[in-house]
Amino acid sequence: MNLMKKGSDYMNLQSIYDHSPIFFQNIMTSVKGYQLKRTRYGKYYYEHLQLLKQLHTYTENQLQEYQFEELMKLLRYVKNNSKFYHELYKDIDIEKFSSVKDIKFLPIVTKEMLRKNIEKVITIPKKGAVADHTGGTTGKSLTVYNRVQDIQKRMAVLDFFKLKHGFENIKMKRATFMGKHIVPPMQKKKVFWRFNRPINQMLYSSFHLTEENIPYYISSLNDFKPDAIDGFVSSIYEIASYIKRKGIELKFQPKVVFPTSETVTKDYRDTIEKVFNCKVRDQYASSEGAPFVWECSYGNLHYDITTGVIENIEDSNEILVTSFLAYGTPLIRYKIGDSMIFDDSNKRCKCGFNTPLIKSIEGRKIDFLYSTKGAKINLGNISNIFKNIPNTIIKAQLIQDSLEHIIVKIMVDKDFLPKHKDLLADEIKHKFGNDMKVDIKIVNDIPREKSGKYRIIINKVDQNPNFNEKNERMNL
Ligand SMILES: [Zn+2]
Repeated sequence: MNLMKKGSDYMNLQSIYDHSPIFFQNIMTSVKGYQLKRTRYGKYYYEHLQLLKQLHTYTENQLQEYQFEELMKLLRYVKNNSKFYHELYKDIDIEKFSSVKDIKFLPIVTKEMLRKNIEKVITIPKKGAVADHTGGTTGKSLTVYNRVQDIQKRMAVLDFFKLKHGFENIKMKRATFMGKHIVPPMQKKKVFWRFNRPINQMLYSSFHLTEENIPYYISSLNDFKPDAIDGFVSSIYEIASYIKRKGIELKFQPKVVFPTSETVTKDYRDTIEKVFNCKVRDQYASSEGAPFVWECSYGNLHYDITTGVIENIEDSNEILVTSFLAYGTPLIRYKIGDSMIFDDSNKRCKCGFNTPLIKSIEGRKIDFLYSTKGAKINLGNISNIFKNIPNTIIKAQLIQDSLEHIIVKIMVDKDFLPKHKDLLADEIKHKFGNDMKVDIKIVNDIPREKSGKYRIIINKVDQNPNFNEKNERMNL
Protein backbone atom coordinates (compact mmCIF):
# COMPACT_ATOMS: atom_id res chain seq x y z
CA MET A 1 0.00 0.00 0.00
CA ASN A 2 2.71 2.36 1.09
CA LEU A 3 4.83 1.50 -1.90
CA MET A 4 1.95 2.09 -4.29
CA LYS A 5 1.45 5.52 -2.87
CA LYS A 6 5.11 6.32 -3.16
CA GLY A 7 5.11 5.07 -6.74
CA SER A 8 2.26 7.30 -7.81
CA ASP A 9 3.73 10.31 -6.00
CA TYR A 10 6.90 9.72 -7.93
CA MET A 11 4.95 9.48 -11.18
CA ASN A 12 3.18 12.76 -10.43
CA LEU A 13 6.44 14.48 -9.64
CA GLN A 14 8.04 13.09 -12.80
CA SER A 15 5.02 14.23 -14.82
CA ILE A 16 5.14 17.75 -13.34
CA TYR A 17 8.86 17.85 -14.07
CA ASP A 18 8.39 16.64 -17.65
CA HIS A 19 5.77 19.31 -18.38
CA SER A 20 7.68 22.20 -16.82
CA PRO A 21 9.93 24.68 -18.59
CA ILE A 22 13.66 24.01 -18.25
CA PHE A 23 14.26 26.81 -15.73
CA PHE A 24 11.68 25.21 -13.43
CA GLN A 25 13.23 21.76 -13.96
CA ASN A 26 16.47 23.30 -12.72
CA ILE A 27 14.68 24.47 -9.59
CA MET A 28 13.16 21.02 -9.06
CA THR A 29 16.60 19.45 -9.55
CA SER A 30 18.03 21.80 -6.91
CA VAL A 31 15.20 21.05 -4.46
CA LYS A 32 15.90 17.35 -4.85
CA GLY A 33 19.61 18.13 -4.53
CA TYR A 34 18.98 20.02 -1.32
CA GLN A 35 17.12 17.02 0.15
CA LEU A 36 19.95 14.69 -0.83
CA LYS A 37 22.49 17.09 0.59
CA ARG A 38 20.75 17.00 3.97
CA THR A 39 20.85 13.18 3.99
CA ARG A 40 24.43 12.87 2.78
CA TYR A 41 26.34 15.76 4.28
CA GLY A 42 25.42 16.07 7.94
CA LYS A 43 27.05 15.70 11.32
CA TYR A 44 28.35 12.14 10.68
CA TYR A 45 29.89 13.22 7.40
CA TYR A 46 31.96 15.97 8.99
CA GLU A 47 32.92 13.82 11.99
CA HIS A 48 34.10 11.05 9.73
CA LEU A 49 36.12 13.43 7.58
CA GLN A 50 38.01 14.45 10.72
CA LEU A 51 38.63 10.81 11.63
CA LEU A 52 39.86 10.07 8.12
CA LYS A 53 42.47 12.80 8.38
CA GLN A 54 43.87 10.89 11.38
CA LEU A 55 43.54 7.42 9.86
CA HIS A 56 45.61 8.50 6.91
CA THR A 57 48.56 9.21 9.21
CA TYR A 58 48.36 5.79 10.93
CA THR A 59 51.16 3.26 10.73
CA GLU A 60 50.50 -0.12 9.21
CA ASN A 61 50.04 -1.70 12.65
CA GLN A 62 47.67 0.99 13.82
CA LEU A 63 45.58 0.54 10.68
CA GLN A 64 45.45 -3.21 11.18
CA GLU A 65 44.35 -2.74 14.79
CA TYR A 66 41.70 -0.31 13.68
CA GLN A 67 40.46 -2.82 11.11
CA PHE A 68 40.23 -5.61 13.68
CA GLU A 69 38.38 -3.40 16.18
CA GLU A 70 35.91 -2.36 13.48
CA LEU A 71 35.39 -5.99 12.49
CA MET A 72 34.67 -7.05 16.08
CA LYS A 73 32.31 -4.13 16.53
CA LEU A 74 30.42 -5.22 13.43
CA LEU A 75 30.28 -8.91 14.39
CA ARG A 76 28.97 -8.13 17.89
CA TYR A 77 26.42 -5.79 16.38
CA VAL A 78 25.02 -8.31 13.89
CA LYS A 79 24.86 -11.06 16.51
CA ASN A 80 22.59 -8.81 18.56
CA ASN A 81 20.67 -7.03 15.83
CA SER A 82 20.32 -9.26 12.76
CA LYS A 83 18.24 -12.44 13.09
CA PHE A 84 19.89 -13.81 9.97
CA TYR A 85 23.48 -13.44 11.22
CA HIS A 86 22.48 -14.46 14.74
CA GLU A 87 21.32 -17.82 13.35
CA LEU A 88 24.18 -18.11 10.88
CA TYR A 89 26.82 -17.65 13.60
CA LYS A 90 25.09 -19.59 16.36
CA ASP A 91 27.87 -22.20 16.59
CA ILE A 92 30.75 -19.74 16.26
CA ASP A 93 32.40 -18.03 19.20
CA ILE A 94 33.43 -14.71 17.70
CA GLU A 95 34.98 -13.64 20.99
CA LYS A 96 37.80 -16.09 20.31
CA PHE A 97 38.86 -14.16 17.22
CA SER A 98 42.28 -12.58 17.57
CA SER A 99 42.88 -11.07 14.14
CA VAL A 100 41.08 -10.17 10.92
CA LYS A 101 42.30 -13.47 9.45
CA ASP A 102 39.87 -15.34 11.72
CA ILE A 103 37.09 -14.06 9.52
CA LYS A 104 37.60 -17.26 7.53
CA PHE A 105 35.77 -19.18 10.26
CA LEU A 106 32.57 -17.43 9.24
CA PRO A 107 30.37 -18.81 6.45
CA ILE A 108 30.19 -17.17 3.03
CA VAL A 109 27.03 -15.20 2.25
CA THR A 110 25.57 -15.07 -1.26
CA LYS A 111 23.25 -12.57 -2.89
CA GLU A 112 20.55 -15.23 -3.04
CA MET A 113 20.82 -15.79 0.74
CA LEU A 114 20.42 -12.07 1.35
CA ARG A 115 17.53 -11.75 -1.07
CA LYS A 116 15.60 -14.65 0.44
CA ASN A 117 16.16 -13.52 4.01
CA ILE A 118 16.31 -9.77 3.63
CA GLU A 119 13.67 -9.15 6.34
CA LYS A 120 15.83 -11.07 8.81
CA VAL A 121 19.11 -9.60 7.58
CA ILE A 122 18.29 -5.94 8.06
CA THR A 123 18.92 -4.44 11.47
CA ILE A 124 16.89 -1.25 11.15
CA PRO A 125 13.25 -0.37 10.42
CA LYS A 126 12.71 0.19 6.69
CA LYS A 127 10.92 3.42 7.47
CA GLY A 128 13.52 6.13 7.78
CA ALA A 129 16.22 3.99 6.17
CA VAL A 130 17.85 4.95 2.88
CA ALA A 131 16.93 2.27 0.35
CA ASP A 132 19.29 1.42 -2.46
CA HIS A 133 18.54 -0.91 -5.35
CA THR A 134 21.43 -2.79 -6.85
CA GLY A 135 22.43 -5.45 -9.31
CA GLY A 136 20.28 -4.51 -12.29
CA THR A 137 22.83 -5.51 -14.88
CA THR A 138 23.42 -9.03 -13.60
CA GLY A 139 19.71 -9.64 -13.49
CA LYS A 140 18.76 -10.23 -9.88
CA SER A 141 18.24 -7.06 -7.95
CA LEU A 142 18.70 -6.59 -4.25
CA THR A 143 17.37 -3.73 -2.18
CA VAL A 144 19.57 -2.77 0.74
CA TYR A 145 18.59 -0.48 3.60
CA ASN A 146 21.15 1.92 5.00
CA ARG A 147 21.47 3.92 8.17
CA VAL A 148 21.88 7.64 7.56
CA GLN A 149 25.22 7.66 9.43
CA ASP A 150 26.61 4.95 7.15
CA ILE A 151 25.58 6.85 4.04
CA GLN A 152 27.28 9.95 5.43
CA LYS A 153 30.45 8.06 6.34
CA ARG A 154 30.59 6.60 2.84
CA MET A 155 30.21 10.06 1.34
CA ALA A 156 33.04 11.21 3.61
CA VAL A 157 35.35 8.44 2.39
CA LEU A 158 34.49 9.24 -1.22
CA ASP A 159 35.02 12.96 -0.73
CA PHE A 160 38.26 12.43 1.16
CA PHE A 161 39.53 10.40 -1.78
CA LYS A 162 38.53 13.26 -4.09
CA LEU A 163 40.16 15.77 -1.78
CA LYS A 164 43.43 13.87 -2.11
CA HIS A 165 43.26 14.64 -5.82
CA GLY A 166 42.61 18.33 -5.26
CA PHE A 167 38.86 18.33 -5.64
CA GLU A 168 36.73 19.70 -2.82
CA ASN A 169 33.17 18.47 -3.21
CA ILE A 170 30.32 21.01 -2.91
CA LYS A 171 32.75 23.94 -2.93
CA MET A 172 34.10 23.17 -6.38
CA LYS A 173 32.22 22.65 -9.63
CA ARG A 174 31.44 19.16 -10.71
CA ALA A 175 30.04 17.80 -13.99
CA THR A 176 28.30 14.46 -13.60
CA PHE A 177 27.24 12.06 -16.35
CA MET A 178 24.57 9.77 -15.04
CA GLY A 179 21.62 7.55 -15.81
CA LYS A 180 18.81 9.69 -14.42
CA HIS A 181 16.15 10.87 -16.82
CA ILE A 182 16.55 14.61 -16.58
CA VAL A 183 15.51 15.34 -20.19
CA PRO A 184 11.78 14.79 -20.85
CA PRO A 185 11.04 12.61 -23.90
CA MET A 186 9.26 15.38 -25.84
CA GLN A 187 11.89 18.07 -25.28
CA LYS A 188 13.01 19.74 -28.50
CA LYS A 189 15.64 22.14 -27.12
CA LYS A 190 19.21 20.91 -27.17
CA VAL A 191 19.66 21.33 -23.43
CA PHE A 192 20.74 18.01 -21.99
CA TRP A 193 21.83 19.20 -18.57
CA ARG A 194 20.32 20.55 -15.37
CA PHE A 195 21.99 22.38 -12.51
CA ASN A 196 21.92 21.06 -8.95
CA ARG A 197 22.78 24.26 -7.14
CA PRO A 198 23.11 23.06 -3.50
CA ILE A 199 26.11 20.93 -4.40
CA ASN A 200 27.42 22.91 -7.35
CA GLN A 201 26.87 20.06 -9.76
CA MET A 202 25.85 20.10 -13.42
CA LEU A 203 24.02 16.90 -14.27
CA TYR A 204 24.38 15.68 -17.84
CA SER A 205 22.13 13.09 -19.43
CA SER A 206 23.88 9.93 -20.64
CA PHE A 207 21.00 9.08 -22.95
CA HIS A 208 21.37 11.86 -25.51
CA LEU A 209 25.04 11.55 -26.47
CA THR A 210 24.74 11.32 -30.25
CA GLU A 211 27.10 12.76 -32.85
CA GLU A 212 24.51 15.47 -33.46
CA ASN A 213 24.15 16.39 -29.78
CA ILE A 214 27.71 16.11 -28.47
CA PRO A 215 28.73 19.63 -29.64
CA TYR A 216 26.01 21.06 -27.36
CA TYR A 217 27.43 19.11 -24.42
CA ILE A 218 30.90 20.41 -25.16
CA SER A 219 29.76 23.99 -25.34
CA SER A 220 27.91 23.57 -22.02
CA LEU A 221 31.08 22.13 -20.44
CA ASN A 222 33.07 25.03 -21.84
CA ASP A 223 30.65 27.49 -20.21
CA PHE A 224 30.44 25.65 -16.91
CA LYS A 225 34.17 24.93 -16.63
CA PRO A 226 33.95 22.07 -14.11
CA ASP A 227 36.77 21.39 -11.64
CA ALA A 228 36.04 17.66 -11.88
CA ILE A 229 34.08 15.37 -14.16
CA ASP A 230 32.54 12.20 -12.79
CA GLY A 231 30.00 9.50 -13.61
CA PHE A 232 29.75 6.89 -16.35
CA VAL A 233 33.17 6.57 -17.92
CA SER A 234 31.64 5.47 -21.23
CA SER A 235 29.83 8.84 -21.49
CA ILE A 236 32.91 10.86 -20.60
CA TYR A 237 34.83 8.81 -23.15
CA GLU A 238 32.27 9.52 -25.88
CA ILE A 239 32.75 13.22 -25.41
CA ALA A 240 36.53 12.91 -25.20
CA SER A 241 36.66 10.80 -28.33
CA TYR A 242 34.52 13.33 -30.23
CA ILE A 243 36.79 16.19 -29.13
CA LYS A 244 39.82 14.21 -30.25
CA ARG A 245 38.37 13.25 -33.62
CA LYS A 246 37.22 16.77 -34.44
CA GLY A 247 40.21 18.54 -32.92
CA ILE A 248 38.02 20.79 -30.75
CA GLU A 249 39.65 23.16 -28.28
CA LEU A 250 38.52 23.04 -24.66
CA LYS A 251 38.19 26.25 -22.68
CA PHE A 252 38.77 24.65 -19.29
CA GLN A 253 40.96 22.07 -17.64
CA PRO A 254 39.46 19.89 -14.92
CA LYS A 255 41.71 18.85 -12.04
CA VAL A 256 40.67 15.23 -12.33
CA VAL A 257 38.14 12.77 -13.79
CA PHE A 258 36.45 10.29 -11.43
CA PRO A 259 34.77 7.40 -13.22
CA THR A 260 32.07 5.37 -11.50
CA SER A 261 29.99 2.25 -12.07
CA GLU A 262 31.71 0.96 -15.19
CA THR A 263 35.03 -0.73 -15.86
CA VAL A 264 37.73 1.70 -16.99
CA THR A 265 39.52 0.22 -20.00
CA LYS A 266 42.99 1.38 -20.97
CA ASP A 267 41.62 3.04 -24.06
CA TYR A 268 39.02 4.94 -22.02
CA ARG A 269 41.70 6.13 -19.62
CA ASP A 270 44.27 7.13 -22.26
CA THR A 271 41.79 9.06 -24.37
CA ILE A 272 40.16 10.90 -21.45
CA GLU A 273 43.51 11.83 -19.87
CA LYS A 274 44.85 13.15 -23.14
CA VAL A 275 41.79 15.16 -24.13
CA PHE A 276 41.06 16.71 -20.73
CA ASN A 277 44.74 17.01 -19.88
CA CYS A 278 44.29 15.61 -16.37
CA LYS A 279 44.39 12.28 -14.56
CA VAL A 280 41.63 9.69 -14.36
CA ARG A 281 41.38 8.42 -10.77
CA ASP A 282 39.39 5.28 -10.32
CA GLN A 283 37.65 3.89 -7.28
CA TYR A 284 35.71 0.78 -6.46
CA ALA A 285 32.77 0.61 -4.11
CA SER A 286 29.40 -0.85 -4.90
CA SER A 287 26.01 0.55 -4.02
CA GLU A 288 25.51 -2.41 -1.69
CA GLY A 289 28.18 -0.76 0.44
CA ALA A 290 31.31 -2.79 -0.28
CA PRO A 291 34.64 -1.55 1.12
CA PHE A 292 36.53 1.02 -0.90
CA VAL A 293 39.47 0.51 -3.19
CA TRP A 294 40.79 3.72 -4.63
CA GLU A 295 43.58 5.11 -6.68
CA CYS A 296 45.99 7.53 -5.02
CA SER A 297 48.08 10.27 -6.60
CA TYR A 298 50.85 7.71 -7.19
CA GLY A 299 48.47 5.72 -9.37
CA ASN A 300 48.32 2.84 -6.89
CA LEU A 301 45.08 1.13 -5.89
CA HIS A 302 44.69 1.16 -2.10
CA TYR A 303 42.62 -1.51 -0.39
CA ASP A 304 41.11 0.81 2.21
CA ILE A 305 41.11 -1.45 5.26
CA THR A 306 39.42 1.24 7.34
CA THR A 307 36.22 0.61 5.36
CA GLY A 308 36.04 -3.18 5.52
CA VAL A 309 37.65 -6.49 4.65
CA ILE A 310 38.30 -7.86 1.17
CA GLU A 311 39.51 -11.45 0.74
CA ASN A 312 40.04 -13.72 -2.22
CA ILE A 313 38.05 -16.93 -2.31
CA GLU A 314 40.62 -19.70 -2.09
CA ASP A 315 42.46 -20.37 -5.37
CA SER A 316 40.61 -17.70 -7.28
CA ASN A 317 40.55 -13.97 -7.85
CA GLU A 318 36.94 -13.71 -6.85
CA ILE A 319 36.44 -11.61 -3.74
CA LEU A 320 34.39 -11.69 -0.57
CA VAL A 321 33.58 -8.35 0.99
CA THR A 322 32.83 -7.32 4.56
CA SER A 323 31.70 -3.75 5.01
CA PHE A 324 32.15 -1.45 8.01
CA LEU A 325 29.85 1.09 6.42
CA ALA A 326 26.67 -0.93 5.92
CA TYR A 327 25.18 -1.65 9.34
CA GLY A 328 21.59 -1.42 8.05
CA THR A 329 22.03 -4.40 5.73
CA PRO A 330 25.25 -5.99 6.98
CA LEU A 331 27.54 -7.62 4.46
CA ILE A 332 29.99 -10.09 5.95
CA ARG A 333 32.00 -12.39 3.69
CA TYR A 334 29.58 -11.44 0.96
CA LYS A 335 30.16 -12.96 -2.48
CA ILE A 336 29.68 -9.82 -4.48
CA GLY A 337 30.63 -11.27 -7.86
CA ASP A 338 33.70 -9.12 -8.52
CA SER A 339 37.32 -10.18 -8.85
CA MET A 340 40.55 -8.52 -7.74
CA ILE A 341 44.22 -9.38 -7.77
CA PHE A 342 46.12 -8.34 -4.66
CA ASP A 343 49.59 -6.91 -4.90
CA ASP A 344 52.54 -8.30 -2.93
CA SER A 345 51.35 -8.10 0.69
CA ASN A 346 54.56 -6.38 1.86
CA LYS A 347 54.39 -3.63 -0.71
CA ARG A 348 53.40 -0.20 0.58
CA CYS A 349 52.78 3.02 -1.31
CA LYS A 350 54.93 6.11 -0.96
CA CYS A 351 51.85 8.33 -0.68
CA GLY A 352 51.77 7.62 3.08
CA PHE A 353 48.49 5.71 3.40
CA ASN A 354 49.82 2.43 4.77
CA THR A 355 47.34 -0.07 3.40
CA PRO A 356 47.77 -3.17 1.24
CA LEU A 357 47.57 -2.56 -2.50
CA ILE A 358 45.48 -4.08 -5.24
CA LYS A 359 47.21 -4.95 -8.49
CA SER A 360 44.05 -4.89 -10.53
CA ILE A 361 40.29 -4.91 -10.32
CA GLU A 362 39.27 -7.65 -12.70
CA GLY A 363 35.79 -6.37 -13.14
CA ARG A 364 32.43 -7.87 -12.90
CA LYS A 365 31.06 -11.10 -14.18
CA ILE A 366 29.37 -9.36 -17.06
CA ASP A 367 32.69 -8.02 -18.29
CA PHE A 368 33.73 -10.92 -20.51
CA LEU A 369 32.78 -13.00 -23.53
CA TYR A 370 33.83 -16.55 -24.41
CA SER A 371 36.14 -17.91 -27.06
CA THR A 372 34.70 -20.76 -29.10
CA LYS A 373 36.61 -23.06 -26.76
CA GLY A 374 34.93 -21.52 -23.73
CA ALA A 375 37.85 -19.39 -22.49
CA LYS A 376 36.93 -16.04 -20.97
CA ILE A 377 38.06 -12.99 -22.90
CA ASN A 378 37.86 -9.94 -20.67
CA LEU A 379 36.72 -6.44 -21.51
CA GLY A 380 40.23 -5.02 -21.63
CA ASN A 381 41.23 -7.59 -24.22
CA ILE A 382 38.11 -7.01 -26.23
CA SER A 383 38.57 -3.26 -26.39
CA ASN A 384 42.07 -3.91 -27.74
CA ILE A 385 40.50 -5.42 -30.84
CA PHE A 386 39.74 -1.94 -32.13
CA LYS A 387 43.28 -0.71 -31.64
CA ASN A 388 44.52 -2.25 -34.85
CA ILE A 389 41.68 -0.91 -36.96
CA PRO A 390 42.05 2.56 -38.52
CA ASN A 391 40.19 5.11 -36.46
CA THR A 392 36.94 4.94 -38.44
CA ILE A 393 34.76 3.19 -35.88
CA ILE A 394 32.98 5.62 -33.57
CA LYS A 395 31.23 3.15 -31.33
CA ALA A 396 30.95 -0.61 -31.09
CA GLN A 397 29.13 -3.32 -29.25
CA LEU A 398 29.77 -7.06 -29.28
CA ILE A 399 26.86 -9.33 -28.55
CA GLN A 400 27.62 -13.00 -28.07
CA ASP A 401 24.53 -15.19 -28.26
CA SER A 402 26.25 -18.57 -28.45
CA LEU A 403 29.76 -19.94 -28.12
CA GLU A 404 30.21 -19.78 -31.90
CA HIS A 405 28.40 -16.55 -32.79
CA ILE A 406 29.10 -12.90 -32.19
CA ILE A 407 27.16 -9.95 -33.55
CA VAL A 408 29.22 -6.79 -33.82
CA LYS A 409 27.35 -3.52 -34.09
CA ILE A 410 29.44 -0.60 -35.25
CA MET A 411 28.83 3.08 -35.83
CA VAL A 412 31.28 4.36 -38.42
CA ASP A 413 32.41 7.67 -39.88
CA LYS A 414 32.65 8.63 -43.56
CA ASP A 415 36.20 7.28 -43.92
CA PHE A 416 35.13 3.74 -43.12
CA LEU A 417 36.03 1.30 -45.91
CA PRO A 418 34.71 -2.20 -46.62
CA LYS A 419 38.18 -3.63 -45.94
CA HIS A 420 37.99 -2.31 -42.36
CA LYS A 421 35.13 -4.73 -41.87
CA ASP A 422 37.36 -7.63 -42.91
CA LEU A 423 40.12 -6.39 -40.65
CA LEU A 424 37.72 -6.29 -37.73
CA ALA A 425 36.37 -9.77 -38.40
CA ASP A 426 39.94 -11.00 -38.62
CA GLU A 427 40.92 -9.41 -35.30
CA ILE A 428 37.91 -10.98 -33.62
CA LYS A 429 38.69 -14.42 -35.00
CA HIS A 430 42.23 -14.05 -33.70
CA LYS A 431 40.93 -13.49 -30.20
CA PHE A 432 37.90 -15.77 -30.14
CA GLY A 433 38.91 -18.59 -32.47
CA ASN A 434 38.87 -19.08 -36.22
CA ASP A 435 35.57 -20.94 -36.05
CA MET A 436 33.76 -17.94 -34.56
CA LYS A 437 30.97 -16.70 -36.83
CA VAL A 438 31.16 -12.91 -36.87
CA ASP A 439 28.24 -10.78 -38.10
CA ILE A 440 29.20 -7.15 -38.48
CA LYS A 441 26.31 -4.73 -38.68
CA ILE A 442 26.74 -1.04 -39.42
CA VAL A 443 24.15 0.85 -37.38
CA ASN A 444 23.17 4.50 -36.87
CA ASP A 445 23.11 4.28 -33.11
CA ILE A 446 23.89 1.89 -30.29
CA PRO A 447 21.43 2.57 -27.51
CA ARG A 448 22.37 2.61 -23.86
CA GLU A 449 20.96 0.37 -21.17
CA LYS A 450 17.93 1.46 -19.20
CA SER A 451 20.35 2.41 -16.43
CA GLY A 452 22.14 4.82 -18.78
CA LYS A 453 25.27 2.67 -18.85
CA TYR A 454 26.82 1.79 -22.15
CA ARG A 455 27.88 -1.78 -22.67
CA ILE A 456 30.67 -2.63 -25.07
CA ILE A 457 29.88 -6.30 -24.66
CA ILE A 458 26.74 -8.27 -23.97
CA ASN A 459 27.18 -11.85 -22.90
CA LYS A 460 24.01 -13.79 -23.70
CA VAL A 461 25.62 -17.20 -23.49
CA ASP A 462 25.03 -17.60 -19.77
CA GLN A 463 21.67 -15.98 -19.59
CA ASN A 464 18.44 -17.75 -19.04
CA PRO A 465 16.15 -17.16 -22.09
CA ASN A 466 13.09 -16.54 -19.91
CA PHE A 467 14.89 -13.85 -18.06
CA ASN A 468 15.95 -12.17 -21.27
CA GLU A 469 12.44 -12.01 -22.55
CA LYS A 470 11.21 -10.47 -19.35
CA ASN A 471 13.98 -7.95 -19.36
CA GLU A 472 13.29 -6.87 -22.90
CA ARG A 473 9.65 -6.38 -22.14
CA MET A 474 10.57 -4.18 -19.22
CA ASN A 475 12.73 -2.09 -21.50
CA LEU A 476 9.69 -1.17 -23.58
ZN1 LIG B 1 49.26 5.59 -2.54
